Amino acid sequence: MAGIYLHIPFCKQACHYCDFHFSVNQNKKSDLVAALLKEASLRKEELQNEAIKTIYFGGGTPSLLSADALLRIFDTLAEHYDLSALQEVTLEANPDDLTAAYLRELRHTPVNRLSIGIQSFRAVDLKLMNRAHDAKQALRCVPESADIGFENISVDLIYGIQGLSQDDWIKNLNTAFILPINHLSSYCLTVEPQTKLAKLVSSGELPNVNDDIAGSHFEMLIETTEAAGIPWYEVSNFAKPGMESKHNSSYWSGEKYVGLGPGAHSFNGVKRSWNIKSNTGYIQQINKGQLPSESEVLTAGEKFNEFVLTALRTRRGLSLEKTKQLCDDLKFSEIKQTVHQKEQLALLNIQSNHVILTTKGLLFADAIASELFIIS
Ligand code: SF4
Repeated sequence: MAGIYLHIPFCKQACHYCDFHFSVNQNKKSDLVAALLKEASLRKEELQNEAIKTIYFGGGTPSLLSADALLRIFDTLAEHYDLSALQEVTLEANPDDLTAAYLRELRHTPVNRLSIGIQSFRAVDLKLMNRAHDAKQALRCVPESADIGFENISVDLIYGIQGLSQDDWIKNLNTAFILPINHLSSYCLTVEPQTKLAKLVSSGELPNVNDDIAGSHFEMLIETTEAAGIPWYEVSNFAKPGMESKHNSSYWSGEKYVGLGPGAHSFNGVKRSWNIKSNTGYIQQINKGQLPSESEVLTAGEKFNEFVLTALRTRRGLSLEKTKQLCDDLKFSEIKQTVHQKEQLALLNIQSNHVILTTKGLLFADAIASELFIIS
């Protein structure tokens, strides 16, 4: 089973922290959709007729697409890919787009999961991040989505925001828990280079994100989600049992996917490719019948490192048995030694021959994983 990702690179306004590929100029929206449809056809052989389990509209802001545009995209995907076993179709959506009328139209499309970018219920945070929606819209859109028939709803919340106290953070989480959600994605605010946020921090208009405060927010996040019955299953993802994102879980287990749209990545089990991050360049090349992408074949070392990194970030953890199969005896004994040291520091536990990070360890998940990597 495989997945399809579609990148919709348009937003109403630029959030100060965002370094994803998007444009606030929506003039090329219909040309872009036409190019997506062509790319779907150009890439149809890549998944070798494997049945599609999940489709994910990410961005950018996919909720800027009309229901008609979404239906056209589905029709084209159905022409070129086997959608007979489709289980999950996610649309990332912003609260200001989720009007009752739009939600009702969406119900007539195959979209069956909403991932709503709320980020915070506090007006001051939304202003600091330059989000396009307000706190009222954030509170309204989730119950309205559920009333209109969406049963599978995820929300995004950001922690570590300058000025967000521990009480504010708990309040944000508890507000999310009383809404009809079954999934939460939560990320630390990161000051990415070349963003407005980076400029505000370097000019002194805003303090930097405080790592200690962000760390304490993360610990609260793990604790309160557990108590609310939405425990973590990946370092940034939390779900009621059985409601984990199928699409993202398939990335973490190395399944194949095709990525359509500017900046989208694809993986066919051996080769990774990525499209250029330019809407104009993407449309021009697709219209010439060319794929606007570069690719690389992963080395055995890169595949191993990716396996370690993704497994360690999940609650299932890193299987020591599988790790042993994927590396030589010397590397495996080094890994066991490092794992033992981290266990002494209470950064991880070994359960059923799997390495599982503790809450403290999750804060350093990527750094711990890199200590286990094969260096080539
Ligand atoms: S809406 Fe999402 S993609 Fe668009 S600027 Fe904001 S964070 Fe970035």
